[in-house]
Amino acid sequence: MEQFDLYIDGAFHPGAARFDSRDPATDAPWASIAEARAAEVDLAVRAARRAFETGAWPAMTASARGKLLLRLADLVQEAAPELARIETRDTGKIIRETSAQIAYVAEYYRYYAGLADKIEGAHLPIDKPDMEVWLRREPIGVVAAIVPWNSQLFLSAVKLGPALAAGCTVVLKASEDGPAPLLAFAKLIERAGFPPGVVNVITGFGPECGAVLTAHPGIDHIAFTGGPETARHVVRGSAENLASTSLELGGKSPFIVFEDADLDSAVNAQIAGIFAATGQSCVAGSRLVVHEPIRERMLATLAERAARIAIGAPCEMETEIGPLCTRHQRDRLHAIVAASVAAGAKLICGGVVPEGPGNYYPPTVLDCTDVPDAPCVKEEMFGPVLAVTAFRDEADAIRIANDTAYGLASGVFTRDLTRAHRMIRAIRAGIVWVNTYRAVSPIAPFGGHGLSGHGREGGLAAALDYTTVKTVWLRT
Ligand code: NAD
Repeated sequence: MEQFDLYIDGAFHPGAARFDSRDPATDAPWASIAEARAAEVDLAVRAARRAFETGAWPAMTASARGKLLLRLADLVQEAAPELARIETRDTGKIIRETSAQIAYVAEYYRYYAGLADKIEGAHLPIDKPDMEVWLRREPIGVVAAIVPWNSQLFLSAVKLGPALAAGCTVVLKASEDGPAPLLAFAKLIERAGFPPGVVNVITGFGPECGAVLTAHPGIDHIAFTGGPETARHVVRGSAENLASTSLELGGKSPFIVFEDADLDSAVNAQIAGIFAATGQSCVAGSRLVVHEPIRERMLATLAERAARIAIGAPCEMETEIGPLCTRHQRDRLHAIVAASVAAGAKLICGGVVPEGPGNYYPPTVLDCTDVPDAPCVKEEMFGPVLAVTAFRDEADAIRIANDTAYGLASGVFTRDLTRAHRMIRAIRAGIVWVNTYRAVSPIAPFGGHGLSGHGREGGLAAALDYTTVKTVWLRT
C-alpha cells in the first residue's frame, strides 16, 4: 500500500493513528493514511501561529511570497501526472478530469502569485491639516482551510493561493475521504521552499480533527467548503474565538432552457453540467427547468445521450463516468432516487444500482414536473442525477428556479438577450451562466448565498478577504 503522512511545521509526521483509504472503483484498500487527532491539530496550529508571528514569513516581502507561489505553480504543473493518478485512485474522479483540473490548479497559484504585491492600502484625505491618515492591509492571521473530498487540490488552491498571497499562514485539512492527493501535494510545499509552519497539511475525521481545528484559539479565519450541516458545526466552532468564516457550501442549481435556445448547445452543456465529476460538484446543474413545448424532445435526447456515456474504470482515458467517492454517498443517492420515484417522479433513465464492485451509479434522469416537491428536486444529490421540471412561461421559470434554499449557480439558455437580462436580474444565485455552463477563471469570483454559504473565492476580492485593515493616524 502507498503511504501518505501529515505535513506539520516543515516535516512529515506519521499521525496519531493510521487508516486505510479505499479505491472507489474496486473497494480495495490502496493507501495508508496518517490521521491527525487533537494533539496533531494543536501542533499544526501552533506551528502556523509561530510562522505567522515570528521567523521568515512576516519578514518576507510580498513579491518574495509571490515568487514562492510561482514556484509552487510550476511544481504543481510538473507533478500533474502523479497528482492526477493519486486523485483518480483515491476519489474515483476520472483521469481526464483530474488531469485537466490540475492544469487549472497551477493557473490559480499563478494568478495569486501575481496578486501578492498588488494588495494595496490607501491614503485618506482627512480634513485635519496636521494629520496623515492611511490604511494598511495586513494579513488576517492563521487560517484553517477545510475541504471536502471532491476536487481537493482545486478547492484548496482557491484558499491557499489568496491566503498566502495576503501573508497568512495555513492549516489545511483534507477530507478523510480521498485525502491522498493533498498529502502528496504537501511534498510540493516542502520543495517550493515555504518556511516551516507556513503551510501545514493534515487530515482526520470531521468530529475530532475538524472540530478541534475550527474551535482552536490559534485560528483567526476559517475557509470552509463542504455541506451546510457541517458548516453549522464549523460556525459553532468559530464562535469559540470569534474567528471569521467564509463558507462555500452546496447547491441545487437550476439549468433553465427556453424554447428558442440552441438546443444542441443546451443539451451538451446540460450533459456536462450534471454528469461531469460524476455529479459530485457543488455547481452541478442538477435541476433542468425546461420550457414545456420542448420537454419531451429534451428528455428523449438526454436519455439517448446518457445511454452513450462511457461508464468505467476512472484511470482509463476514455471513461466519462467513474464511481462515486464513497459507498455511503451511493446509498444515500439511491435512497433519494427511490423515494422520488415512490412520490411519483418518472424515471427516464438510470436509477438502478449496478452489480459488481465499486461505487458506480448510472446517469439518471427523473421527470418531476407533476411532483415539484419530490426529494430529488429539493435535496442536493451530489451524484449523476438530474431532476426535470417543465415551466409554462418566464415568470413560471423564475419561480421554479428560485424555489430552493440554495443559491450557488444557475444557467440560462435562450437566444433572446433581452429575456436573458431579465433572467439575470431575477435569479437568486451567486453565478449566472448564459448560454454556457461551468465556466470558471481565477479572475472571476465564485460563491453563493442562502444554504450555499457566504464569501467569495477567486479574484482580487478573495485575497482581500484574507486581510484586515489597520487605520493609522499620524500627527505631523
Ligand atoms: P462535509 O461537509 O461532510 O465535509 C467537508 C469537510 O468538513 C471534511 O474535511 C470533513 O472532515 C470536515 N468536517 C466534518 N465534520 C466537521 C466538523 N464537525 N467540524 C469541522 N470540520 C468538519 O462535505 P462532503 O460531504 O465531504 O462534501 C460535499 C459537500 O461539499 C456538498 O454539499 C457540496 O456541494 C459541497 N461543496 C461545495 C463547493 C463550493 O465551492 N461551493 C465545492 C465542492 C463541494
